[in-house]
Amino acid sequence: MAEAARRLFGGGERGGRAGRPICTGVGVPDWVVPLAIPTPYPIGPVTVYLLEGEPLTLIDSGPATRAARRALVDGLAAAGYRVEAVRRLLVTHGHHDHFGQAAWLAKGGVEVFAHPHEARNLRQERAYAILWRQLSLAGLPLLTRLALLAGLLALDTTARPVSRFAELVEGETLQHSRGRIRVHHLPGHSPGHLGFELVDAGIMWTGDTLLEGITPNAVVGPDPEDPTRPFRSLAAYNDSLVKLERSGVGLLLPGHGPCIRDLSAAIASVRQRQDQRSRQVQRLLDRGPAPVMALLRALFPGLPAVETFLAFSEVFGHLLELERRGRVRRRRLGRRELWELVPLGPSSAASG
Ligand SMILES: [Zn+2]
Repeated sequence: MAEAARRLFGGGERGGRAGRPICTGVGVPDWVVPLAIPTPYPIGPVTVYLLEGEPLTLIDSGPATRAARRALVDGLAAAGYRVEAVRRLLVTHGHHDHFGQAAWLAKGGVEVFAHPHEARNLRQERAYAILWRQLSLAGLPLLTRLALLAGLLALDTTARPVSRFAELVEGETLQHSRGRIRVHHLPGHSPGHLGFELVDAGIMWTGDTLLEGITPNAVVGPDPEDPTRPFRSLAAYNDSLVKLERSGVGLLLPGHGPCIRDLSAAIASVRQRQDQRSRQVQRLLDRGPAPVMALLRALFPGLPAVETFLAFSEVFGHLLELERRGRVRRRRLGRRELWELVPLGPSSAASG
């Protein structure tokens, strides 16, 4: 039955409306059924994994759109299950394409599990006042700010808020008839991002931590422990990469695109692209102090307003990381915040 679903939704190396392959094939256990669920976002389909056995489990849910619900129901049916048979939903993180249908599934009796640091994302609490202030300090024009917020509000229509869920934290294990599942906290892409390792199998479901051909954005938002401060997402993300490297896992089952079979190469490529971006930001600041908006214009010319949030998040994330490393600092100039390079001290200058 799993095979029928695989043929329908992820058969061979095809899958999903956008035609991007999903993770299936060698090394993926035959009781794991990847389902390509369409999303309205540029990234294309999200992969929901059905774990056959007891309890019948889903890893992630797809967004709360009619097309996604149909794809999930049809995918389960092709594997021989009714949606009512699902008992457990493990949410890798609180982004719309991953948890959007969780509230609907919970209504049908599915127990939803997620990390406590995803509570704000799952409740769809945006801290708009803090974001508005950040964007104003960053020098984004009023219309761009409004378009960006309108984009976020539109995005929020593709998920239903989840207010109650069972909390999972680092090191816990879940019992499943086909094997134990160990919980790994992999913050960065979001503060409470989780990885789910199939113990002794060298396999981990890793959500959006690593994706083939895409550098996952370490999305900037409020720090889960102190929402008045920004979450230092890039530093957390890089620590999570180190943790993954040390996990000894050989096959990653990601939330989008094909399986990742060469973890070292995937991590090396992300680090290379991060370094490149960081150097670009520093080169721009080498010309003089600048607000985030000036950096955005230079790095992403012609960017549509609705895509500004992720671009802003990327640049701001790099600035926070460079600030943490003592390479840049900020100062207020009227209603703007300017970022500048910290001059090298005599000892660093002498050592080059
Ligand atoms: Zn995500």
